[in-house]
Amino acid sequence: MAAGPHVLVLGGSSEGFAAAERFSTLGCDVTTSFAGRTGARRQPVGHARVGGFGGAEGLSEYLKTERVALVVDATHPFAARMKANAAAACAATRTPLIHVERPAWRPQPGDDWRMAPDVTAAAALAPVTDGPCFVTVGRQEIAPFAARRDLTLLLRVIDPPDAPFDHPAATFLCDRGPFALEAERRLFADRGIGSVVSKNSGGAAAEAKLVVARELGLPVVMVERPPRPEGLTAGSVDEAARLAAEMLGLPTS
Ligand code: NAP
Repeated sequence: MAAGPHVLVLGGSSEGFAAAERFSTLGCDVTTSFAGRTGARRQPVGHARVGGFGGAEGLSEYLKTERVALVVDATHPFAARMKANAAAACAATRTPLIHVERPAWRPQPGDDWRMAPDVTAAAALAPVTDGPCFVTVGRQEIAPFAARRDLTLLLRVIDPPDAPFDHPAATFLCDRGPFALEAERRLFADRGIGSVVSKNSGGAAAEAKLVVARELGLPVVMVERPPRPEGLTAGSVDEAARLAAEMLGLPTS
């Protein structure tokens, strides 16, 4: 079967899987790349590769060797290094690049959000409340919470942490989204959660905890996104497909 243009999807998000499916449907030969941080993962449509490229230079080599016609950056909004590497490698090799950036969450009436520029600041800002502080920033970034001996912590992670986490009152909960609203309501009630720390990832899969925090009037420390990467940005996979169709002369459906 004749393969269309080679599209590299930088994955690690639900948009990555959706992009692989969408661009395959458009006749592209799609490879999805994963950092390899989590154990079990879904198989994307098309090919998959796992592990870093070796910085912007390694990615440039890959783009040339694999004759990549388009890079679709569908990494997590907080994957700043990979986004910057993609921008540099695509500029160096003159490969078109589209960042897919899902809209950030915005506070709603009834929310008690305290904004933090990064996870270290978020750990410092987490308030002492009656119940545990529900930490949902990802296993790679929990270290600053170890210093908060005055908090009881409930840390939700996909996989258990690699290194021991030294804290007198920390419980790990290993689970992977999407998280349904009813299940989150039960979790908050069962554990008596008193506050939440979250990155502003946006999207539906992890939003329910914010709804429950609002319902219960709980404080939320929200880690703001790193600066937007330079370059062409689409707010959805559909928009990325439309932009790609114009750039590469693909069919539009
Ligand atoms: P990163 O810090 O931007 O990337 C670090 C390195 O990992 C990159 O330089 C690259 O290595 C490799 N890498 C990242 N994404 C890759 C991909 N799709 N394919 C191949 N290699 C990739 O990104 P991160 O370490 O993945 O995560 C950074 C932040 O995003 C963390 O805060 C994390 O919690 C968050 N995140 C959250 C989720 C989630 O589902 N909640 C998922 C992913 C990330 P080379 O330089 O060797 O190419």
